[in-house]
Amino acid sequence: MSRTPIIAGNWKLNMNPKETVEFVNAVKDQLPDPSKVESVICAPAVDLDALLKAAEGSNLHVGAENCYWENSGAFTGETSPAVLKEMGVQYVIIGHSERRDYFHETDEEINKKAKAIFANGLTPILCCGESLETREAGKENEWVVGQIKAGLEGLTSEQVSKMVIAYEPIWAIGTGKTASSDQAEEMCKTIRETVKDLYNEETAENVRIQYGGSVKPANVKELMAKPNIDGGLVGGASLVPDSYLALVNYQD
Ligand code: PGA
Repeated sequence: MSRTPIIAGNWKLNMNPKETVEFVNAVKDQLPDPSKVESVICAPAVDLDALLKAAEGSNLHVGAENCYWENSGAFTGETSPAVLKEMGVQYVIIGHSERRDYFHETDEEINKKAKAIFANGLTPILCCGESLETREAGKENEWVVGQIKAGLEGLTSEQVSKMVIAYEPIWAIGTGKTASSDQAEEMCKTIRETVKDLYNEETAENVRIQYGGSVKPANVKELMAKPNIDGGLVGGASLVPDSYLALVNYQD
């Protein structure tokens, strides 16, 4: 098993280009070797140019928070995956619960985005996760497995081997309420088993699975010690250089 841990900041609708450059300058010389821990920042589309330029030559990898499934055309307001690739972006978050809930994105649309992202040589970070009601009804496994099956529909084992899946229980996002490391591990294991059922053992061993939802310097070590958790997708705690550095350097 040789999955490289991946800690990705998800800045959401925060930071402007000037703040982006200041952030990168504050962290870029203290990032871990990417063969030990991969450090990623996913930023708003309007900050990506500044982020890429500031991160050039450093160990910081760059992701977008969303994109469309067409490369060009009459789709006002959307972001082209082909242009993200041209710019030098590497990752794209898709299916974040905020996009599903506030922007009504469906599993089918998220799957189209996954295919377009791969077609352009980018790597998707596919988010999944249940609401509190779903968990209280004991239906969280069924829900997440359904999201994974729909999100991966039509992808090859080669593609899934390279991608990242982020398990983010909605009740733990931005609430300060982290899933316990056992709850997080249990669902990440279920996701890996689902990938094994859909593809094969090798694909399941290769796919990297992150936990997200109130990850912070105080809990990152415990989460990362779990065998099926390969990384974190981090909102609030990724906005401040010191806290981001503590997260990516959790092995120190
Ligand atoms: P949080 O957000 O770390 O602020 O809970 C995580 C996410 O939504 O990706």
